[in-house]
Amino acid sequence: MESAIKKIEELVKEETNITIKVKILSISQKEANTQKGKSVYHYGLLGDPTGVIPFTAWSMPTTVRDKDVYQISKCYTKKFNEKIRIYFDQGTEFKLLPEELEVKRTYRYYSIRDLNTNDKYVTVEGILSNEKEREYEKEGQKKAIYQYIMRDQTGTIPLSSFGTKLPVGKGVRIEGAKLDLFNGYYRLNTYEKTAIEDVNLKITEDPEYSYIKDVKTPVGGIKVSGFIISLGEKSGLLTRCRECNTKLDDLRCADHPEAGVKYDVFIYFTVDDGTGYMQVNAGFDAISEITGITSEYLSDEKMPPLKKEIRSRIDRGLMHGAISINGNARMTEQGISFKAMKIERLDQKNYRQIVSIQEEEFA
Ligand SMILES: [Zn+2]
Repeated sequence: MESAIKKIEELVKEETNITIKVKILSISQKEANTQKGKSVYHYGLLGDPTGVIPFTAWSMPTTVRDKDVYQISKCYTKKFNEKIRIYFDQGTEFKLLPEELEVKRTYRYYSIRDLNTNDKYVTVEGILSNEKEREYEKEGQKKAIYQYIMRDQTGTIPLSSFGTKLPVGKGVRIEGAKLDLFNGYYRLNTYEKTAIEDVNLKITEDPEYSYIKDVKTPVGGIKVSGFIISLGEKSGLLTRCRECNTKLDDLRCADHPEAGVKYDVFIYFTVDDGTGYMQVNAGFDAISEITGITSEYLSDEKMPPLKKEIRSRIDRGLMHGAISINGNARMTEQGISFKAMKIERLDQKNYRQIVSIQEEEFA
């Protein structure tokens, strides 16, 4: 006898002989090495109007395609990685149904650091700040757009909300925000179907450390640590036009030869933390404290700064010990480019924090 059709939301424990009516959302294939040799199995996602669940098919008719709707009987559920999953085997029966089936959309949760535009609609949690209101026109009507910076324990990202003001300074969970890449940076947008709810979050001001190998996302507020393994040859003192601020190769700006120059510092280097390395660039604000190069020193009219002295302060400050870098990642044609906003010497507290992250990771 055929059992009654179960809804996906009812599949919460391990059961056998289940019948479901579902739409196949995705199918992937994997090779496994068994004692009998190589075998192929399939896995993917399926859903119905009540939810979406992953499946593993040890056996499945070759005619099963994604986007088709089936009544599937004699399948079973089991826990895998603490989550309920549907399994098909040789006894499972598939009946193709000539109908459409609506599937409940669910959005995967991501830490800001782990966002990826391969998944365009996502769930994120964080605290919003820096509210800005702007107006724009759509079909002759004035509308408001609210812009925020969203922060979680791993990073920051700009978020825009069309028409709706969002709560600032407390935890929010945003389901179905749209992720895109703009001008080299990720940003989130909310729209009509986005669900926003208050949640209790414990997020400290200080972001958690990321491993350099995990910095693949163009978001802000990323913190890494490591050692500088090479400092760019042209790092150090540079001159800018007082009038237009352009970086000068000469002592005069071609457009403003009379304006005179002002001094600035810029460095670029490669940092390595044992998991990987990356290119970083940094300006005066990021390195002033750790190098002791002050704005007074750079702007002393009577004693202009010396290239050699600047370079030796940079070497002393940055090249002898582990540092911590807080900054923003940007996507360029060459990959991720990292701009440091603050570089500090790694103190004991931060050192302990890294050790505890590592212990967690390898536990
Ligand atoms: Zn100029």
